[in-house]
Amino acid sequence: MNIQPIFDKKKRPIVIAGPCSAETREQVLQTARNLAPLDIDLYRAGIWKPRTRPDSFEGVGRKGLAWLQEVKQETGLKVTTEVANREHVFEALKHGVDVLWIGARTTVNPFSVQEIADALEGTKIPVIVKNPINPDLKLWMGALERLYKAGLEQLAVIHRGFSFHGQSSFRNVPRWQIPIELKRQFPNIEIICDNSHICGRRDTLQAVAQQAMDLNFDGLMTEVHPTPDEAWSDAAQQITPAQFKDLLGELVFRNVETDNPEFLESLEHLRHEIDEIDGELLRLLGARMKLAERIGTYKKKNNISILQPTRWNEILEHAQQRAAAHGLSPDFVSVFLKSVHQESINHQNMVMNQPLVDEKE
Ligand code: PEP
Ligand code: MN
Repeated sequence: MNIQPIFDKKKRPIVIAGPCSAETREQVLQTARNLAPLDIDLYRAGIWKPRTRPDSFEGVGRKGLAWLQEVKQETGLKVTTEVANREHVFEALKHGVDVLWIGARTTVNPFSVQEIADALEGTKIPVIVKNPINPDLKLWMGALERLYKAGLEQLAVIHRGFSFHGQSSFRNVPRWQIPIELKRQFPNIEIICDNSHICGRRDTLQAVAQQAMDLNFDGLMTEVHPTPDEAWSDAAQQITPAQFKDLLGELVFRNVETDNPEFLESLEHLRHEIDEIDGELLRLLGARMKLAERIGTYKKKNNISILQPTRWNEILEHAQQRAAAHGLSPDFVSVFLKSVHQESINHQNMVMNQPLVDEKE
């Protein structure tokens, strides 16, 4: 795929900002007037709001599109809104929306994405695709492919984090490796971090925006509202235009590359050490799997099941207790060990489901 940039900006970051939802004409225009001097690239406002639970505010609908047209006329800002079906697409195109975005709850559904792609065929409008709510890279890529096949070449993506079950300080966990892998597969694609939906709260917006910049993301999408506490949707995560200006002002931009020879040499040494440690880790993991296979053989001989929950709990708890002493987070240790454990199970499974050597004799 030969994806074309939407923004094609040399200056970082690309900035998309505006309220979660268009609520009133005054709120939409006021927010845009406050954001226009910040040199933003796109003004966002949700017109149709996909909500997890019924009885939440579901957007003002098509009448809000006229307010976006007023924003364009008055401020010169380009505007974007979310579309989730054919009707949204026709209305948005009719009202001169400059860029469309596909929301996380839509990207999960190939029928909906195809319906949008079909409705857009023959147009050249740029489209930004949010990641699906579940951590499925292929679904995200599939949505891009469907749009591209419909002739849309100006495509970008928004990383807004992923749903999860359990406790977290994030509203949607970032799982940065997923957008990083997407960028590896589509190196030209512009990737924007929606820190608002990742954080779900104001106090962590800056840190997540900074992390995205440190990972060389191209831009930010942040929800901005004149009176965030009174917002009709996502109040807890929205910030005022003045707070957003400060957030942008505090971002630090680090270079991606350098040709300073001293730096390059030290980096080379450190990378060499990392490669050695990685090699050692692989060797140890291989040795661990050989042991797991021997255990598998004993278990098979004695007719014992592979998974022994008490032993597994002990390993996990013990390692988590020791994590801090090695400068590791308990979360990392848990994810790492679970993956090692799964590989051990695969090895034991292989052993248990093949005839024992001495049985063959
Ligand atoms: C939004 O941007 O307001 C929105 C609904 O986001 P998401 O699709 O990421 O939940
Ligand atoms: Mn929102």
